[in-house]
Amino acid sequence: MAKQQRLGYLRYVEGQDEKRLREMTLVRDLQLAAERGQLSMVYQPKIAAADGALVELEALMRWQHPEFGFIPPDEFITLAESAGLMSQLTGWMLTTVCRQLAAWEAEEGLCLAVAVNLSAQDVIDPALPQQLAQVLATHGLEPARLGLEVTESAIMSDPETSRRVLADLSQRGASTAIDDFGTGYSSLAQLKRLAVRQLKIDKSFILKLEQQSDDRIIVHSTIELGHNLGLEVVAEGVETEAARALLVELGCDYLQGYGISRPLPAAAVVGWIAAYPP
Ligand code: C2E
Ligand code: CA
Ligand code: CA
Ligand code: CA
Repeated sequence: MAKQQRLGYLRYVEGQDEKRLREMTLVRDLQLAAERGQLSMVYQPKIAAADGALVELEALMRWQHPEFGFIPPDEFITLAESAGLMSQLTGWMLTTVCRQLAAWEAEEGLCLAVAVNLSAQDVIDPALPQQLAQVLATHGLEPARLGLEVTESAIMSDPETSRRVLADLSQRGASTAIDDFGTGYSSLAQLKRLAVRQLKIDKSFILKLEQQSDDRIIVHSTIELGHNLGLEVVAEGVETEAARALLVELGCDYLQGYGISRPLPAAAVVGWIAAYPP
């Protein structure tokens, strides 16, 4: 019995070691992932609820590791943050997205807007607004072409500094959204003081909207709250026609989800737009 317990413990320790080894390998490889061409951005359409028009694309990062395969961004972004690699990744992402925006315009005549995701570390970086202005100017883009999404929990990890950085960004003409809204415990007082344009309701409230009446109540009151604060409201995770119809009925402004489009590689975006609406 005692022996078995010990073996169980050993197996547990081994599992932990494997996890740590994977993390250490990923952190090491992440530093070279961009220059080795393993990182890419995919783009997910966001549409207006009222008429279905395309309003923006959200840029999401992808990492194809040569040995471990596809690594989900939730995993490598967390690792990058704890290893101090985030500003490097964000810098690569901003350049890639701005270059893509300029290319769509020059090559396809498409003047698109893209929203990018910022991490908790980005939003407390006082150098970020200047860095953003720089990369936009380099590619000849107006600030309004680049939306910024910051999670509610990132803002709440340092509300005072985030508030100042967000104010600076919005003063420079950037459009900002609070992402994953409803999961991060911000108070109404804090919300009111933030210079943001949009609330993005977390997909956990949207995915089962048709079946769950409490989700419907939460979504309904969040839309009203947002509108009362003068904000636009976005729903992510719209997978079904029924959810879409319900959100339109509840007065949600913008919709995004697999039911409208999955995130697309840059090369597929032009084709999607040409075929839209289906
Ligand atoms: P997020 O910003 O909340 O992005 C939405 C996530 O939901 C994306 O997952 C997207 O692919 C997924 N999604 C979209 N529509 C649906 C749907 O209808 N149903 C379901 N079940 N899922 C849907 P993804 O691409 O795996 O990204 C996960 C998270 O990683 C993002 O959550 C964001 O927080 C972070 N992330 C991704 N790219 C970046 C980046 O470039 N920088 C930073 N800082 N974070 C990023
Ligand atoms: Ca987002
Ligand atoms: Ca989200
Ligand atoms: Ca999320």
